[in-house]
Formats: sequence, structure tokens, C-alpha cells
Amino acid sequence: SERLLMGPGPSNPYPEVLKALSEPVLGHLDPEFIALLDQTNEHLRTVWQTDNSLTFPISATGSAGMEAAFVNFVKPGDCVVIGVNGVFGTRMCDVATRAGAEVVKVEEEWGRAIDPQRLLDAHPEPALIAVVHAETSTGIRNDIAPLGANKGNALLLVDCVTSLGGIPVLTDDWGIDIAYSGSQKCLGVPPGLSPVTISERAMEQLNPKPQSWYLDLNMIKDYVLGDGARAYHHTAPISMLYALHAGLETVLEEGLGETWARHQACGDFLHEQLPQLGFELWAQEGHRLPELTTVTLPEGLDDAEGRKILLERYGIEVGGGLGPVAGKVWRIGCMGHTARIENINRLLTALSEVKSELC
Ligand code: PLP
Repeated sequence: SERLLMGPGPSNPYPEVLKALSEPVLGHLDPEFIALLDQTNEHLRTVWQTDNSLTFPISATGSAGMEAAFVNFVKPGDCVVIGVNGVFGTRMCDVATRAGAEVVKVEEEWGRAIDPQRLLDAHPEPALIAVVHAETSTGIRNDIAPLGANKGNALLLVDCVTSLGGIPVLTDDWGIDIAYSGSQKCLGVPPGLSPVTISERAMEQLNPKPQSWYLDLNMIKDYVLGDGARAYHHTAPISMLYALHAGLETVLEEGLGETWARHQACGDFLHEQLPQLGFELWAQEGHRLPELTTVTLPEGLDDAEGRKILLERYGIEVGGGLGPVAGKVWRIGCMGHTARIENINRLLTALSEVKSELC
């Protein structure tokens, strides 16, 4: 059944994306497909706001983008500073440790942003500094620009899974060296691809033999950047690439600035309306994401029961809290095609009815 996806997971895909998914399948070395891939990467450069030639979608979800980022640029024993204020910073530490890094964690309370100076002061000469731009587990935006401006010799790695296409991500201006995202959030495409972008500076430090075969950029780059005669590396997920291409065209036809503004307007509206229904904003003021809002529940509203009614009766998915706030907050996503005022009004009406029934 059709759902209104207002959780932290996938958003509703754009209609053009759903249409693209049903297009006839081409071979992964077909010149027509290669042309579509090249154009997709060109569109990605615009969305990432970068000139990086190595900009393409990894054939797997956002976590594979995270893994590719670490295994390709961390060598065993490297010092890696990682900001941790939620689930995805925690996951970065696990991935980096498995890649052999000496991880220096900079922790902040969940629901609060990490002070960039703390990341910069954590180690005198780290190989890499990593942080999540939009922490989906808390609804917090961490500042990136000061890290790029003061990173010294370190590479700057940023998780943009929940930010790309929803709020400004200025890869080149902010001095980001390595970034990854996911297709399923603000880009309005189903889950399955992880757009990445890698600076020339990072490519000079590419690990010659990462422990992952599938994610080894030494090989993938030849397929992505090759001239007309591309060698097979793995069978590209053709239909998902059509979908991403269609999603990016939709965003660029609307205008990247306009898409950011639509997400911001939806976030502002939600942030204004939810407290009036007794749902208080939880994430630190000044660092709240428009595309992912965390709220505490009104007195008497049971987390599981409330979300069950929303899903089963109203067809609306919202997410529960994680970690220290499991059972205490909801996470309301408003991303990609879902980010429309009419969808927010539908949610607000449902929330008001559920609240009168349960509280
Ligand atoms: N990073 C962030 C900030 C995320 O929100 C997610 C997923 O929601 C991931 C990484 C992992 O992406 P995926 O679930 O697509 O593997």
C-alpha cells in the first residue's frame, strides 16, 4: 500500500524516478548507458557543488559509501579523528577501526552539535578528520566549513547521507576531500546507491591496496573516468542508475537553490506547528535540520502505539528515537518528493487526531 514516508529512512521517490525504474534495461557497457552514467556524474557534480572528476554513485547503500571512504583513504595505524553525536558517527568509528585506524573520538551529547574546534584540537597531526553533516539519529546539523578551513594536512571526510540535495553542501567551498551520500533521502530516489565525491588531493593519498575488492577506487575509477572503452568492474545496477539520473534531473529542473528552499520552508513550517500540538523540538536550536525534525512526545502519548496508528490508519510513517532517547522522541523526515507543505498538513491533522484519542 502507498505510504507517506515521513520517517528518517527513505522518502517518497519523485514520480519521474518511478517512471525511470520501468524503462527497458540496457547492458552496462552499452554506449547509451555509459552516456547516461556520464551525465549522472555531471549532475552529481552540480548537486555536490564540486569540480571533482571522481564523482559517481557507488553501487550500494550509504553505508557502502562510508566504508569506501574509510578503506580507500585510511592505512593501518593512521590517526583518524571522528565526531560522534549519534548513530552514524558511532558507525564511522566501527568502520574506521576495522580499516586499521587509530580512532580519536570527539563525543558530544546526542541532540547537540559538535564544536568544530574540538575536532581540530583533538590531535596535532591526524591523517583524516571525519564528521556527519546531518545526523539522522538526532536531527542535528554539524558545521563543516570551519573544519575545511583549518584542517591542515588532514583529509576531511563528511557523511552527507541526509544532507545532499536537502540543505547546502558546498564540497569545494568548504574544503571537503571525501564525501558520500545515499540515494533515498533528499534526492528522492529509492535506496541502493551512494553518490560519492573525492578531491584530487585525496586521490594523491589513495590506499594502493584497500582491504575491500568491491570498493577499491583504484579499479572503480577506471570504469568511471575511462574514455569510451570502459573495462568491466562489476555489473552496474542499471535501473537504479536510471532512477538516480531522473531524480537529479528533477532536482536540477526545479533548481538546486529552490530545492534547498523547499526543504527549508517545510522544516520551518514543521518547527513552528509541532510545538502547538504539544510536540516540543528536541535538537539544539540553531543546528536543527529542516529535513529531519526530532520532537519529544506530549504527556500520555505512547511511542509505539502512536506510530502504529499513524502507519495503519493514516498510512504515514514516522521514526522512533534511538540510543538514549529511544521511546522518548520521534524523528520526522521531510525529504525529497515528501518535502511538500500538503504532506505536512496531512501529518499535522493525523497527529492532532491521534493526540486527542490517546492523551
Ligand atoms: N549515514 C547517515 C547519516 C544515515 O542517515 C544513514 C542511513 O540512514 C547512513 C549513513 C547509512 O546509509 P544506508 O542505510 O543507506 O546504508
